Amino acid sequence: MTLIDKNLAHAHKSDEALGEIAKVLFRPMGADGVYARTALYEDIVDRMAALISRLREPDTEILRFPPVVSRHIVEKSGYLKSFPNLLGCVCSLHGTEREIRAAADKHEQGGDWTETLKPAELVLAPAACYPVYPLVAARGAVARGGVKFDVACDCFRREPSKHLDRLQSFRMREYVCIGTPEEITDFRTRWVARAQQLADTLGLVQNVAPASDPFFGRTGQMMAISQLQNSLKFELLVPVRSNEEPTACMSFNYHQDHFGEIWDIKTAGGITAHTGCVAFGMDRLAVAMFAQHGTDIAGWPASIRRALMLD
Ligand code: ATP
Ligand code: ZN
Ligand code: MG
Repeated sequence: MTLIDKNLAHAHKSDEALGEIAKVLFRPMGADGVYARTALYEDIVDRMAALISRLREPDTEILRFPPVVSRHIVEKSGYLKSFPNLLGCVCSLHGTEREIRAAADKHEQGGDWTETLKPAELVLAPAACYPVYPLVAARGAVARGGVKFDVACDCFRREPSKHLDRLQSFRMREYVCIGTPEEITDFRTRWVARAQQLADTLGLVQNVAPASDPFFGRTGQMMAISQLQNSLKFELLVPVRSNEEPTACMSFNYHQDHFGEIWDIKTAGGITAHTGCVAFGMDRLAVAMFAQHGTDIAGWPASIRRALMLD
């Protein structure tokens, strides 16, 4: 890019320009929204993860989850009510050796081996924080002041798209807080401010706006309206593909007593615990960085290079 080009560049990139960026960041794997990641891309993901770790509050328990969750946890969490369209379920061939052989052989014979699949006890993790709540519930009442977690996992959502900022398989990092309503709203307020500073440090054009989850179906629309009315979700938006439809790179969620009720989590004071989480979409953040600053990392502004410990 020449200097003039740079000056003319908008905050967002056209699909064509993003396509050029994709060639350097990703390798195709035969499915929309599922990509192999290059060293260039992965290095920035790692460095941003380290930056987010440096912002971790004291007394935060760190857990890293596998990309699968017990089906029971996700069912009980109400995921099938809210997002049944997005959930991926692990299925496998069950039965005797003879039955499994016969099912697998259907493929060789030009048939459909998947007809014989049966669901396993696992689903693909749709978000990082679901396993935290039953874990905390099993420990008894939450200590005064609340408890905080730093969690992450590879997530799956069945929303295939050509857009680089909407993947089927992506990384989510979250800070989670469980405690009284006041503790959760304080936690969220602190994180909205901290996240905006983080985005500013990274030179990302951003704003935080009220948001709703893409709840499924007609009853889902009602849930989305009530979520907006109660200011339960905010997103940090970055213009990656367009200014009109900026991309949510982080979200700040107040679940009220949803998980506290489901898992019977109590505070030290004996009330049902409230919960909240701040989620960082690591892949969206990385794509946003390359869209905004280009793929020549050596040419990124000094302050950004310093924040990512590139110098
Ligand atoms: P959107 O409205 O864009 O679908 P969301 O409301 O579904 O986002 P959350 O459920 O809050 O997103 O997930 C937390 C974060 O995970 C998002 O802010 C985003 O950065 C990231 N994320 C969510 N879905 C995807 C996806 N399909 N591809 C990449 N990152 C995603
Ligand atoms: Zn969460
Ligand atoms: Mg979504």
